[in-house]
Amino acid sequence: MKIIIFLYALLFGSFYNVVGLRVPEKKSIVKPRSSCPSCGRTLTIIELIPVFSYLFQLGKCKNCKKSIAPLYPIMELLTACLFVFAYAYSGWSFETVIAWTLISLLVIISISDIVYMLIPNKILLFFTAFFLIERIIQPLNPWWDSLVGSLVAFILLMAIAVISKGGMGGGDVKLYAVLGFVLGTKLVLLSFFIANLIGAIIGLLGIAVGIFTRKKPIPFGPFIAIGALIAYFFHESIFSWYLSFLR
Ligand SMILES: [Zn+2]
Repeated sequence: MKIIIFLYALLFGSFYNVVGLRVPEKKSIVKPRSSCPSCGRTLTIIELIPVFSYLFQLGKCKNCKKSIAPLYPIMELLTACLFVFAYAYSGWSFETVIAWTLISLLVIISISDIVYMLIPNKILLFFTAFFLIERIIQPLNPWWDSLVGSLVAFILLMAIAVISKGGMGGGDVKLYAVLGFVLGTKLVLLSFFIANLIGAIIGLLGIAVGIFTRKKPIPFGPFIAIGALIAYFFHESIFSWYLSFLR
């Protein structure tokens, strides 16, 4: 079963690359078929096979020999691994469907935030509709924690965006409102804390090593994604570890 989920999720991941790359540019996600960004040649069916085509071509376009960004196969693999992990975590349950939806949103916004420094409204709206239905079928306990979580996250992030004068983007604020709805108050706050912690560590390391510069802004979306996934899957161990630490 896990292998089947893995293979399907690779295809999903490949589609999420397309969505994350095309929606911010207001292009159709169905047509035309993907092409090489350097020479514009339409990819053959074989070249559309996720990850494997990248490995077979040694990460280069067959036509112009320009290297293909490793971001795409990495995101495909990541999607597949996370889908399998979510299944192993909750088995055949509706919560797994919610986890898959959450992973899908986070992969797509990470791609568009890394490439364009942007989290598109269209994608947030689309997923909000999904989560609304999903949290009616499988509500949080209590059900209104979705509303409180969404509101608390929105107000907190909005306040930070105003105080930092644009240090936090509007897309980040809206994304957190959506995450608050899915995760609830406690987990969305935990996810925000983790995102900042990991963001600060990676940011400082990156500046020290010279990958990032202070002037160039670092996209926060991927850190939001990491924070949300860690909070979603590992909150129980984090909270129990924290309580034993307090004792
Ligand atoms: Zn090419």
